[in-house]
Amino acid sequence: MSEELFILQHNFDGICRLEDVTKEDLFNLAYRDGITGYYNWAYMWRFLYSKSRIKEEFCFVHFDIKDFKMVNELYGHDLANQVLCMVCDALKNAEDWVFHSCRCDNDNFAMMVKPESEEKLRTRLEQFFDTITVSNIDPQLRIYYRCGVVLVDDAKKWDDRVADLAKFAQRMGKRYNCTEINFYTQGMYEKMLHDKQLVVYLDRAISNDEFMVYLQPKYEVNSERIIGAEALVRWNYMHEKLLPPIAFIPAFENYDVIGKLDQVVLRKVCNQIKIWQEKGLPVYPISVNLSRKRMENKQLREQICSVVDEVGIDHRLIEFELTESASSDDVEFLRSLITELRALDFYVSMDDFGTGYSSLSLLNNMSPDTIKMDKSFVDSIIDKPEDSKECMLVRDIISMTKHLGFQSLAEGVEYKEQVDLLRKWGCNVFQGYYFSKPVPIPEYEQLIRAQENML
Ligand code: C2E
Ligand code: MG
Ligand code: MG
Repeated sequence: MSEELFILQHNFDGICRLEDVTKEDLFNLAYRDGITGYYNWAYMWRFLYSKSRIKEEFCFVHFDIKDFKMVNELYGHDLANQVLCMVCDALKNAEDWVFHSCRCDNDNFAMMVKPESEEKLRTRLEQFFDTITVSNIDPQLRIYYRCGVVLVDDAKKWDDRVADLAKFAQRMGKRYNCTEINFYTQGMYEKMLHDKQLVVYLDRAISNDEFMVYLQPKYEVNSERIIGAEALVRWNYMHEKLLPPIAFIPAFENYDVIGKLDQVVLRKVCNQIKIWQEKGLPVYPISVNLSRKRMENKQLREQICSVVDEVGIDHRLIEFELTESASSDDVEFLRSLITELRALDFYVSMDDFGTGYSSLSLLNNMSPDTIKMDKSFVDSIIDKPEDSKECMLVRDIISMTKHLGFQSLAEGVEYKEQVDLLRKWGCNVFQGYYFSKPVPIPEYEQLIRAQENML
């Protein structure tokens, strides 16, 4: 336990009368953090925003610990707290270039540091984080950080927004197993504004019916008949231009409003299935994408069922595409979600398989109906001999999928060469431009009519 923490906790033992409280007690209560004994955000705030106290120019740094949740879960709170103390000790020992620093909350820390060029500060921060990558709680464990920096000119210009900007730059760090240091730029700011505008407009866009569902057919490999389709959203933004998902889905995910959009898409799919049933058309299952961001949402099952059941659609006609987790955090959520959705009689497929954190262990622990092999694997076999590593890997993924009892689907098939090889290796379903791009619903309906001789 750090010295400050000791003082803090022991000073308060048994205090119950106001007259017993010393100035030091008050200072500790107000400005020190109970876990590490180091300064808290309120302390830092006085230097950051009180003009009279700070005369120096400074760069502002904000960082957190990657996957700290996992450290807590694996080692327990006491050992995880030792990691927080290690960081605070390092901050304390960096007085030659850190003017003020604090633990803001949870695993978040901030520093006001000596103004330096981007290059010099980056080197300094890299060295700093290197010293706190290994902790004594377990020498095998590597601790990585996600750090955002605002350089001195922007810190002056943005004044009371500086912490927001540093946090914003920090959030740009999305990789695993490495420390990332991102410097705030004007471009980031513009993107933040743009994303925020989209998010603020979302409700109006929904009530203006600006979101459209395109369907991309899925084909059974041997018969080359359509056996279903994937719903892919497009935004007819202000009824002026058509935006692809990449232009808005990351923003909706960042601001945690993706659920609203996913529910709109699900409702549109259900309504369309109802229309086809009323028209007497054969209906094949339609898959909708479920954002990974929604996995931890406890109401997710009810939200989904309320739409599907309200429209009155058989659950067997809906499939959910889940993306395998990008971190160890959500493997358990994913596992239970797959089990629950399948128990509710929905189909489940694992989207973009092979790109995430846990691909292989996923096959062992989870039971989706279908594995959708990511387009990058399907691309990798182009112009490669069959005994190349790329081809062997894809062939083995297909055969493993089959042995474990799942369907295999190849995403993004574009060339005949891919079709022939994948078919030969036993892939079950194709989806890709070679057969059809995502098309508006009336076009999909025509494809089905043509297939069923109902034109
Ligand atoms: P995804 O679910 O992996 O969907 C496949 C993407 O690959 C689609 O891009 C599709 O148009 C594209 N694609 C399919 N075949 C080919 C091909 O042969 N060649 C090439 N180059 N591309 C192909 P799209 O429609 O732009 O969607 C991108 C991603 O956006 C989707 O990836 C999905 O993750 C996300 N998305 C789309 N609609 C929704 C939605 O309603 N909700 C959520 N949460 N995510 C969605
Ligand atoms: Mg998908
Ligand atoms: Mg995919």
